[in-house]
Amino acid sequence: MTASVEVFLASRNAKKLREMERILAEHLPGVRVLGLDDVAAYDEPVEDRPDFEGNALLKARAGVAATGLPTLADDSGLCVDALNGMPGVLSARWSGSDKDDHRNNVLLLDQLSDVPDERRRAHFACAVAFVHPDGREVVVHGRMDGQIIRELRGSGGFGYDVVFVADEHADAGLTSAELDAGEKDRISHRGKALREIAPLVAQAVAG
Ligand code: IMP
Repeated sequence: MTASVEVFLASRNAKKLREMERILAEHLPGVRVLGLDDVAAYDEPVEDRPDFEGNALLKARAGVAATGLPTLADDSGLCVDALNGMPGVLSARWSGSDKDDHRNNVLLLDQLSDVPDERRRAHFACAVAFVHPDGREVVVHGRMDGQIIRELRGSGGFGYDVVFVADEHADAGLTSAELDAGEKDRISHRGKALREIAPLVAQAVAG
C-alpha cells in the first residue's frame, strides 16, 4: 500500500485548498492538501514584501519551517494601469486594514471616475511559491487581463470581481462576478498559476 502524500498550503480558504487538491491529484493521485487549520498554530509572517512573489515565498518558507511539510503559498491582487499598478500587494487593504471588499471597490471606482474607458486596463496577478523541506524552491506567476468598469455588477466571486471584465468576456461584458466558478478558474490568474505549479510539486514530492 502506498502512503498518501501530504502537502501544506498556507491558507485558511477552504475553496483554495480543495481547488489545489483537485489540480494536484491529477499529477499525484491520493494527495492530501492540508491548510492552516489542519496543522499546529504558528506565527504567520506579516506580508510586507513589495511584490506578490516576495510575499508568497515568505509564507511558503514560514510554512515549511513550522510544519516540515512540502509547502505551497500564494499571493495575489489587482494591478490597475492608471494607478501605476496599484492596489497590487495592497489589494485586500486598499481602503483600510479591515479588508472590506465593498469599500475597496467603491474607493477604486471613485479613484478612476475621471479615467476614460480606453485607459481603464487592469490585470489580476498571482504568484504561487513552493518550498520543499530539502530547500528546493519554485515560484510561478499567472495573470488575467481586462478592464475596470464603472459600476459594481454580479454576485459571484469575491474581491474586485464585481468591477472587472476579463478580455475573454469583453464581448458579453460579463464581470468575473458573473461567471460560473469553473469558467473563472479556467481563465483566472490563480487557476493558471496552480495548474502550472501542480506538475512541478508532484515531481518534487515524488523524487
Ligand atoms: P489573496 O492573495 O487571495 O489574499 O488576495 C488578495 C486580494 O486581492 C483579495 O482580497 C482581493 O481583494 C484581490 N483578489 C485576488 N484575487 C482576486 C480575484 O480572483 N478576484 C477578485 N479579487 C481578487
